[in-house]
Amino acid sequence: MTDLWEESLDGIHPTVDIETGKVTYPEANARLDDRDGSVFEVLETLAEQGRLKREFQEKQYICPHCETKGMQYTSACPSCGSPETIRTEQYRHTECDHEGMQDQFVDDDGVVCPECEMGLKSLEQLESDAANYCKDCDEIFETEEHRLLCRNCYLVIQPKRATERILYQYYLTDQGKKWVDEQLTARQLVVETLKDRTLRTEIDTTVTISSGEEVPVHVYARDNLLNDHIIAAVHEQPYESDISHLLTVALDVDAHAMLVTTSGTVVGEDIDRLDTDDRLTILEMTKDGALQREYETVSDPDAHNSFVGRITNIFKPQTG
Ligand SMILES: [Zn+2]
Ligand SMILES: [Zn+2]
Ligand SMILES: [Zn+2]
Repeated sequence: MTDLWEESLDGIHPTVDIETGKVTYPEANARLDDRDGSVFEVLETLAEQGRLKREFQEKQYICPHCETKGMQYTSACPSCGSPETIRTEQYRHTECDHEGMQDQFVDDDGVVCPECEMGLKSLEQLESDAANYCKDCDEIFETEEHRLLCRNCYLVIQPKRATERILYQYYLTDQGKKWVDEQLTARQLVVETLKDRTLRTEIDTTVTISSGEEVPVHVYARDNLLNDHIIAAVHEQPYESDISHLLTVALDVDAHAMLVTTSGTVVGEDIDRLDTDDRLTILEMTKDGALQREYETVSDPDAHNSFVGRITNIFKPQTG
């Protein structure tokens, strides 16, 4: 979001693997990790929140049999359904009305009508029409059928039987810009507050926990003299799970945890329960850009009934 805001990134674009039809969002992938969940769901959630806007890129068809994405267009024989058809020319001898393919009129002696055996100077003396020829059932036909072919299981179906999926590109909205701006302002406020207390601060860094894993943190501050450490996180509306994650990391690296809510609310049932040894400080960023020890707790909205939850389900490939 920051890269979009700074315009070092112009948008998030889907990439379709030609071989497998798999869709990825490389720009988003590079900036998210496993903890963030599915890249597509993150993008959709941000779009639903009005922070990213979608722009149509292409439509994808998903195989109803094996769920492979990116079915391929093919024409097919109206008689037997085989995609093994070729565009060709059909010839007609006007004198005897015989119709046939080029090779039926051409033999070693030149151009001869196979029906009335009249010799002709060239194929130009015959009437010709565009036609299609099926190599499977030898049918010659004027209009081909439109079908989709699965590159994985070779299923050939009518387009309406395939599951459609629209691929979007994502761009930052004005609301998204405002949101990023607010989050960065809050982070800067945290940094300045800590600096005022003569702590050395690092932005968007990682701390190494006892398992050896590098965990990303918004701000890391330390006072080497007093051997005091603080890790800080900025959220618009932190959930209990965000707080307990921050606390777990803080406990592991023996740091103080500082959490800023830019909306002034925290989502959870019993936030006080989390903070047993005064390790956690939750602060609200006020409208005039100050940090204060005051916040409101709201209960968890049912995630399953949320609009975002419903909309992301729609985008899941369906079978049948
Ligand atoms: Zn056929
Ligand atoms: Zn003839
Ligand atoms: Zn398939």
